[in-house]
Amino acid sequence: MNTTYEQCFICNQDYSEKDISITKCNHKFHTSCLCNWLTIGKKCPYCNEKLVERNIEAINIEDLRRKILREMLVKTLNDDVQYNQEIIKTNEKTMEKLKNNEERIRIQINKHNIINEINKSKKEELNKKINKFYEKLIS
Ligand SMILES: [Zn+2]
Ligand SMILES: [Zn+2]
Repeated sequence: MNTTYEQCFICNQDYSEKDISITKCNHKFHTSCLCNWLTIGKKCPYCNEKLVERNIEAINIEDLRRKILREMLVKTLNDDVQYNQEIIKTNEKTMEKLKNNEERIRIQINKHNIINEINKSKKEELNKKINKFYEKLIS
């Protein structure tokens, strides 16, 4: 039994009356049914939880429906927020990975550039040698 249950457990009638009561164990009954019941015993008719009057919240059925709706909305919102937070976390991890990859690629490019520079200077040196060799050949 939960708070969306639409019949009073004591009289098995729908909540056509406006006034219903919720116990601290979260069970609800017609206020009049529960008042009658409490003259006999001080336990919840549904679950036998000990009841004192101050633990019983009288509530209008429309207010209860609004309350349940509000709780559902809050839960949906919380689920959404949690879901989005997980997506954000995943995205942050991906960003971190991409940054690491970017850093690695940057290092690779640097290495490549250095090797290129070395090769260029080697090539120049080699060209000079070849030129000298030709000069000797010609003279
Ligand atoms: Zn009832
Ligand atoms: Zn109960």
